[in-house]
Amino acid sequence: MAVTEARTEMPVVDRAVALNLLDVHHGYERAGERIEVLAGADLEVRAGELVAVVGRSGSGKSTLLHVAGGLVAPARGTVHIGGRELGDLDAKERARIRRRTVGFVFQFFHLLPHLNVRDNVALPLLLDGARTRTARDAADGVLAAVGLTDRADHLPSELSGGQLQRAAIARALVTEPDVVLADEPTGNLDATTAGEVLDLLVAQVRDRNVALVLVTHDAASAARADRTLHLLDGLLV
Ligand code: ADP
Ligand code: MG
Repeated sequence: MAVTEARTEMPVVDRAVALNLLDVHHGYERAGERIEVLAGADLEVRAGELVAVVGRSGSGKSTLLHVAGGLVAPARGTVHIGGRELGDLDAKERARIRRRTVGFVFQFFHLLPHLNVRDNVALPLLLDGARTRTARDAADGVLAAVGLTDRADHLPSELSGGQLQRAAIARALVTEPDVVLADEPTGNLDATTAGEVLDLLVAQVRDRNVALVLVTHDAASAARADRTLHLLDGLLV
């Protein structure tokens, strides 16, 4: 029967997998020499799962997150986000998937200095074509969830480090992504604030059933995850 045949030809998409990297290779040219940073890395993150990635400085953790989030195309290998292979998409489609399904949190916050906190958080929705009012309302909702309602009208320069990172977490969550990629999100905070920010990040992703890949130097942070992977010689083990 034709219907059955068509079904058997459909690719098997596992909705329970938020992110999948298969045999990913990536490197850089330096002083005329090729350095291989990722050398066949595999990573599967289930919906709502919390995975920590640890590794020494320079082992390729940031490169891994950039590839996983579609910011950088791998030299070799595949990246699936929400069942779509990024390599199959053109740049515009890839940017759209990235905007809608991935949230990034960086060590140094990367908020835009000339926008207030509300508009920084609303920005991913505005870039995706949402109306200003809709985007700002959504931003206010997430800002309330991270305890920053009273800072919404302020510029980033008027916030503490911990508040800046909470705003960045709100920005990562405002699009209701499938996965948040956090690159040493507490690496630039004092120990007490780092603990508070990590608690908030973990609580928010758990609450929303968002998968989290947490790159960290800190064993106590990694212990909060469902699984810890080590990036070693370009492989995740
Ligand atoms: P980590 O985040 O674990 O510290 P990175 O992914 O930032 O590691 O970097 C891995 C290696 O790749 C390092 O040796 C770094 O110097 C190099 N590297 C990273 N980005 C670039 C780049 N854009 N050009 C050249 N080398 C790079
Ligand atoms: Mg790094």
